[in-house]
Amino acid sequence: MKFLDLEKINNRFRQEIDMRIKDILDRGWYLQGEDNEKFCQNFASYCGSKYALGVGNGLDALRLIIKAYGFGKGDEIIVPANTYIATILAITDNGCTPILVEPDINTYNINPDLIEAAITPRTKAIMVVHLYGQAVEMEKIWKIAQKHDLKVFEDSAQAHGAKYQGQMTGNLSDAAAFSFYPGKNLGCLGDGGAITTNDEGIYQKVKALANYGSDRKYHHIYKGLNSRLDEIQAAVLDIKLPYLDADNKRRREISTYYRNNINNPLIVLPKTYDEEAHVWHVFAVRTKERDRFQEYLRSKGVQTIIHYPTPPHKQEAYKEWNNRSYPITEQIHKEIISLPISPVMTDDEVVELVRIVNEYK
Ligand SMILES: *Cc1c(COP(=O)(O)O)cnc(C)c1O
Repeated sequence: MKFLDLEKINNRFRQEIDMRIKDILDRGWYLQGEDNEKFCQNFASYCGSKYALGVGNGLDALRLIIKAYGFGKGDEIIVPANTYIATILAITDNGCTPILVEPDINTYNINPDLIEAAITPRTKAIMVVHLYGQAVEMEKIWKIAQKHDLKVFEDSAQAHGAKYQGQMTGNLSDAAAFSFYPGKNLGCLGDGGAITTNDEGIYQKVKALANYGSDRKYHHIYKGLNSRLDEIQAAVLDIKLPYLDADNKRRREISTYYRNNINNPLIVLPKTYDEEAHVWHVFAVRTKERDRFQEYLRSKGVQTIIHYPTPPHKQEAYKEWNNRSYPITEQIHKEIISLPISPVMTDDEVVELVRIVNEYK
């Protein structure tokens, strides 16, 4: 059983994709064209935000947001200690200091109750991460941000279509970053990303920053980057976007079945505070002897992935933090393992997986 059958996922759209790529070849226009514009409008309206900008990938989306707010050396950004490395890289790439905050062991998202203690006079923003597809409970975050005059950003790379109190991720903060890496809930055929915001000034600034700092051709107002969503990726995403909610619904069905039917005392199931909040980008369970469990599943033909084996503060790239201790983050990284979940899994596979997991001793 594959962890994620990308071929099957994208083959559902094969004919439309072939046609739209043919159109692009016929037009001979590959960047910043009509497909990009169309997708960005549709994605903004999907998220309920005023603006969406297509960029090269999720990491760039994060980097560009921080850059657009002008944060740099000496500025601190609060971020969960248990996130994918990209969230942290975006902060250090801008010269800012990430202030790592432990997660809540029940949601795996940043623990809002630990944020205030991490705030200093240098703190500029809170970067939340909707990890595994579950929206952060934003109410406390908004209150803290308001009290201390901080910006709030979302790393929404794992949470396309997730909601908090009925409001879409991507529209829960000052600016949000999305990734369309092929394996994400909304994925293209290579790298892609987007920034959503309701702030016109920030939208204009990220747009220029992502295009050599240029607001019009050969006129450069910022020291920018080159990070754009190309026409082929935009067209593919535009074809897939209308199916995102149905795909997320299928993920939710599978997760409900797993949570109702996996009853192995060795396995800790994920929790959700609101069914609508979660789009199950990954179905991560915890178990004490994680490697033995993974080997067991492999022997039964089930592919799994660890999200993630090593926390950012233990990575060689962040040697300066290697001696620090974030016990909850470390426990999660030691015990977590993601089971197959995807919109193209069959009912038989889902039932089979539950049987295999329940037979683990
Ligand atoms: C995938 C991911 C990113 C990076 O996105 P890319 O498009 O791969 O650069 C950032 N943050 C999180 C939480 C992710 O899962």
